Amino acid sequence: MRGVTFDRHGGIEVLQYREDLPIPAIGPNDVLIKIHAVAMNHNCLWARRGLPGMDILFPHMNGTDAAGVVAEMGSAVTQWKINDEVLVHGGFSCGHCVECSRGHPSFCPEFQIWGFQTGPNAGGEAEYARVPARHLVSKPANLSFDEAAAIGSVLLTAWRMLVVRAHIQPGNFVLIWGAAGGLGSIAIQLCRLYGAKSIAIVSDDRKAAFVESLGADFVINRHTQRINREVMAITRRRGVDIVFEHTGAETWETSTYCLKWGGTIVTCGATTGFKAPLDIRFLWNKEQNYLGSHFGSVSEMIDALKFAASGQIRAIISDTLPLCDVARGHELLERGEVFGKIVLVPE
Ligand SMILES: [Zn+2]
Repeated sequence: MRGVTFDRHGGIEVLQYREDLPIPAIGPNDVLIKIHAVAMNHNCLWARRGLPGMDILFPHMNGTDAAGVVAEMGSAVTQWKINDEVLVHGGFSCGHCVECSRGHPSFCPEFQIWGFQTGPNAGGEAEYARVPARHLVSKPANLSFDEAAAIGSVLLTAWRMLVVRAHIQPGNFVLIWGAAGGLGSIAIQLCRLYGAKSIAIVSDDRKAAFVESLGADFVINRHTQRINREVMAITRRRGVDIVFEHTGAETWETSTYCLKWGGTIVTCGATTGFKAPLDIRFLWNKEQNYLGSHFGSVSEMIDALKFAASGQIRAIISDTLPLCDVARGHELLERGEVFGKIVLVPE
């Protein structure tokens, strides 16, 4: 089968589009899916470049967000049929340990992000993939395969951050970093869904127009405006209730300044670096809350997808590329020239 792998870290030159990969063998509890679309994430770049303290299993195959149809089922699988349209919940866990039973699959000792921590050759950038049957979710009928792949993990991640962890409420001000990207474009829509007011931070005027089209209530251009001052003007000097963080080192300090007393920063990543200063007075005196959020459970994905099925949350696709053009996808993502998600289609 066709697929994209790499066997060392480096630039886009390490990506190999291959046509001679074996179709994965499945076990009794697995499903083989024929992939119709797979969306890119920042973890595609991290795996390719290498991350300190993390071993990538070579040959590595990226791809956490795939949508397709059931092509084959293991002998113990009863909940799916051939040709069912599905998307993959890419946070694999054992399903039976105490943390999984409590509903915290990301605390499971076996937790792995599919196509990032799995391997060798185990991800969604291929024609077929082996997926544990309980990590599939029915594709909402109104979504195309491209849309289903594009919305999967970003909707789940943003949902868990804002709804499950930060308890977003009507009337909240929510500051959203990287608002035109995959996560940010969903966060803006979740604010609308919950009657909260989004303050979208972007890096240029094209992105400003884009986030306005998604329903952002306020837009700040981080290159031409002082974020602090704008946020204080918008919130009448109170600060925001929630900061939607995924950028890390470069933005964290500003996030703490923009946050109101008793407000919540919720973060799911740190694309600009992992180390940030912490003024402990903000923690005790202002009683600010700093919450982590990692991926989300199958049940949270099902909850969140209801709003994609109803049309209240849209998948935002920046570019759709054939799988053989994966290197171009890496370039676009690396340069930040992305509005929403990049989707790869195996021909
Ligand atoms: Zn477990």
